Amino acid sequence: MKKLASSAALSERADRITRRARADNWKKPPRRIEPSECITCGNCLRSCPGEFGAIFDHGLDVVIVPELCSGCPSCVLECPVDCIYVDEDWTPTGDAMWNHIELTAEGAA
Ligand code: SF4
Ligand code: SF4
Repeated sequence: MKKLASSAALSERADRITRRARADNWKKPPRRIEPSECITCGNCLRSCPGEFGAIFDHGLDVVIVPELCSGCPSCVLECPVDCIYVDEDWTPTGDAMWNHIELTAEGAA
């Protein structure tokens, strides 16, 4: 079951969205979803802790935003097809996705 995030943890997530950057103290690399293997079941989306909120429905795909992903890795345990991989070579998320995330964050406030 998904745990409720504290207001402090949610505020840290909001700060990461504003800075469009990962937390400096995260040691693990983020994860990524391989779209050619994903069956878009949504299990990962529901399992990502609210304080991270790193997984989004985006078009036809389910995606992880690396700047919001701590690498924890709750989603990996819930994926029925094992298509969530460590992403050492992640690249910064584009503006279109950030705009989508900011709208989602405002809607949730
Ligand atoms: S590794 Fe953790 S923080 Fe990253 S997307 Fe999966 S559940 Fe969310
Ligand atoms: S749990 Fe796995 S198969 Fe399901 S949407 Fe997430 S990445 Fe795709």
